Amino acid sequence: MDLSGLNDKQQEAVRHTEGPLLILAGAGSGKTATMTSRIAYLIEEKGTYPGNILAVTFTNKAAGEMRERVEKLLGRKVNSWIMTFHALCLRILRRDGDHLDDHSSDFVVYDPADQRAVVKAIIKERNIDDKKNPPGALLATISDLKSAGVEPKDFLAEMQGDFSGEIRARVYMDYDRTLKKNNAMDFDDLILNTLKLFEKDPGILRSYQDRFRYIMVDEYQDTDGLQYKIISSLAKGRGNICVVGDDDQSIYGWRGADIRNILNFEKDFPGAMVVKLEQNYRSTGNILDGAYSVIKNNKDRKDKRLWTRHERGEAITYARCDDEKEEADYVAREIIRLCGPEEDFSDFAVLYRTNAQSRTFEEAFSRRDIPYRVVGGIRYYERKEIKDMIAYMRLVSNPRDDLSMERIINEPKRGVGPGTLSKLKALASAEGLSVFETVARPEILGGLNKKAGTALGQMTDAIRKYNSEKDNLRVSDIYDGLLRETGYLSALEMADTKEADIRIENLMEFKSVIYDYQEKPPEIDVYMEDGGETETERNRETGDLEEFLEKIALISDIDNHDPTENAVTLMTMHSAKGLEFPYVFMVGMEDGLFPSWRTMESPEGVEEERRLCYVGMTRAMKRLSMTSAEYRTMYGKGSYTRESQFMREMDPKLLRGDGVYVEKNEVRTGTSSLRDGYSGEPFSPFDSLREAKREVKKGSVGLKGLKAGDRVVHKKFGEGMVLEVDGNVGVVIFDRAGTKKLALDMAPLERVQETDI
Ligand code: ATP
Ligand code: MG
Repeated sequence: MDLSGLNDKQQEAVRHTEGPLLILAGAGSGKTATMTSRIAYLIEEKGTYPGNILAVTFTNKAAGEMRERVEKLLGRKVNSWIMTFHALCLRILRRDGDHLDDHSSDFVVYDPADQRAVVKAIIKERNIDDKKNPPGALLATISDLKSAGVEPKDFLAEMQGDFSGEIRARVYMDYDRTLKKNNAMDFDDLILNTLKLFEKDPGILRSYQDRFRYIMVDEYQDTDGLQYKIISSLAKGRGNICVVGDDDQSIYGWRGADIRNILNFEKDFPGAMVVKLEQNYRSTGNILDGAYSVIKNNKDRKDKRLWTRHERGEAITYARCDDEKEEADYVAREIIRLCGPEEDFSDFAVLYRTNAQSRTFEEAFSRRDIPYRVVGGIRYYERKEIKDMIAYMRLVSNPRDDLSMERIINEPKRGVGPGTLSKLKALASAEGLSVFETVARPEILGGLNKKAGTALGQMTDAIRKYNSEKDNLRVSDIYDGLLRETGYLSALEMADTKEADIRIENLMEFKSVIYDYQEKPPEIDVYMEDGGETETERNRETGDLEEFLEKIALISDIDNHDPTENAVTLMTMHSAKGLEFPYVFMVGMEDGLFPSWRTMESPEGVEEERRLCYVGMTRAMKRLSMTSAEYRTMYGKGSYTRESQFMREMDPKLLRGDGVYVEKNEVRTGTSSLRDGYSGEPFSPFDSLREAKREVKKGSVGLKGLKAGDRVVHKKFGEGMVLEVDGNVGVVIFDRAGTKKLALDMAPLERVQETDI
């Protein structure tokens, strides 16, 4: 087999087939490529039967690509086991699961949604207070206990006398029993039961040790304790284990990955050969040096430095934009500028720290007709929670919109099953009414079961109420009110799962979309009475619901989502691990966002973020661009930001662009104090999120004790004077918007302070 495409060190690693081997090397040095060639070499040169080779990768995508490359090298299909840890365990258990005590090999796999359903049923059955013990927290406890190898009965014994501990132990016990009874396994069980199987039946373990004559693991720095056990048990057989990784790229510590697995490899597998690769084939000199100037700030690392034969290439560019919209637009403009005849859109990637950042880029790309795909996430306007809330707003705008009504009638869960819904629809069509009108009738509500009747009653009341006041409210008042009064937000809060938290974050981010719309009203000219001069003044009319919904429909329609080929990739830095792109944009380089505020407290946390920064930067082959926003709005709340400490760590000689920080004692030209990125505070998405939620819950309670003659400010119509008050209805004449009749308990009103007049 021709290995001439590999360098000497790589060839050495490929040829060293017997005994333990560690390839510890930096990004883009060809670790994955070496591993791939090694599989082909074992088959072609050593005559190894392909089914005797096990190669473990971090994601299904990586496994698919590796298989493809091996098959390309060999020119035929191979049946080697190239897969993730979970897929490996699933396959082993399907073959030999019958030897387990509590399961047979035709078990079903429970995904997180199934797991939650089980825990919820237990909570109900045991009458547990789900506010004190939310399902998400219980599942997290169960997962921790399982990973630590603690059996339910042992945990129960340990918790004896501890009231809340005992509750958790009983849930764990019931959960375990339910899964066994249903012959089901969750993801943790796949790994754990494989280990159990190996322990219980050494013969089975031995058969796999014999089968896997050669074992390889990519991205070994991100394996956790249990995965390590699987690998080391299997490798004890033949001892031909090759692991590949980079301690500088360990980015899953928060998920239990243990960097010691790679650092202790030589101790765990005595006699291991260690190959270090130092030549990088991916990036230009500037990109490599830039990445090194950041990672070298980690105290807890073994120093290693990559070199390249590639030219120095372009400088890393850094743009400090005005705000997140300008940032997205800048990236879109740059992509259009850089995408010449030689390039494809698929040569570009935008990497961010959190999925919530994708929205502004999706919008900017749609506006400029740039095809894109969001990897590992869902497009913002395709998300269920966003579609649900848009359906609610449509219903407020037009209660006869049956499609929207059907979408949300049981969102959140109100106990309206498909059977009830089809009966309601039949009734509505028989009477020529809309579903909403039918449901809102007291005799219909009364005829449903109590829970459904009450919940639907609350929902229809809210829709009706906002429908009648919609012209007097800002879109944001309606949105907040719907989140609050339909029970949508509280249902998510009750669920208390990671997934529900993300949904809440997306819903709060929708407030940015709404404020954005409200803050850009049409500008009108106002004649000054005295001098006849014109002055442009902002109209307080903040747009209306119908116009807003049309705008949203447009954005979500003309999107350029293109999952297939020629599209820009949008993804988090975490999911970019192992990949490469000619052009990379790393966006949101601000303290608080990246490094994330969650990690800024602890030095270890920041070190893991710094490794993530290194991973992100080393994805770039030809050109790396970094951006930050001076002012960032998230969840509808904006604040000035401070640029990321990683930007300040980067060697300024390698950087070019308006955002480049110049030492304070050097002459700086044309940069405002804000632009230098030091005067702001770390951005705090957490505070913005909390503030946004608080605002939703508080809502508008209106003003009490108003009387004719009072001067008020309305958030939509501006200043005016109360003409008349009759119970909850007030008539107000506004200076600009004319006379309006308002429901006083909902109106966003404030009194004008004496001094303001
Ligand atoms: P990461 O740490 O990011 O996972 P890696 O070490 O696995 O990186 P690869 O993805 O295997 O690196 O290789 C990086 C790039 O360098 C790929 O495009 C690969 O084809 C190329 N490459 C690897 N080795 C050589 C070589 N000897 N000659 C030329 N190109 C090479
Ligand atoms: Mg790799």
